[in-house]
Amino acid sequence: MMSIERLYSRECPKSLTGEPTKPGLNPMTSADILNILAQVQRHEPVGNMILQAKIQLDKNSRNKLVKTFTAWLHHDKSINILMSAIIAENAIHEVCDTCICDKCKGNGEAIYKKERKLVTCTKCQGVGRIILTTKQLYLTINSQRPSDNKMTFEQFNELYYSVYMDAVDRLNVAESAAKRFAHEVMDRLNKDLAA
Ligand SMILES: [Zn+2]
Repeated sequence: MMSIERLYSRECPKSLTGEPTKPGLNPMTSADILNILAQVQRHEPVGNMILQAKIQLDKNSRNKLVKTFTAWLHHDKSINILMSAIIAENAIHEVCDTCICDKCKGNGEAIYKKERKLVTCTKCQGVGRIILTTKQLYLTINSQRPSDNKMTFEQFNELYYSVYMDAVDRLNVAESAAKRFAHEVMDRLNKDLAA
């Protein structure tokens, strides 16, 4: 089956060579792909925006996500509007932006002068992406607050850390739901095409 990345890149297999693929191998057309994407958008709007921001680097979807999550934090979590916007922006940055480690370029391994061979990247601990520690997250968020309204690390932990994590969780859940739904639609389509 086609990967979610290919689906959102609208990478239509037939268009790669210009020749039709073998029957049953990958009969999906670009019209099928647009149809699947439209269904995901209707059924999983938030997850769809995440995938558009992440894979298509769609700035509109990313902006809409920040707005949606700012409103959710403000209304449902009773966070003041400025902090809601800052938390939403940072949570969406963590989930949607690439955050690829610049030392190992996402490989998780890098060559260090001393060892002269590939070893686990010390900057990202081999993860390949930069995920901020709680302290780094605090420093980043605090730097985005107005200069006359800074908070301590303790205040951040007490008031905002769990709210930030809730936002990241919610994004991850929405992304998974959209991926699962897209797979179901592709499955159904493949069965219809094979029948
Ligand atoms: Zn790294």
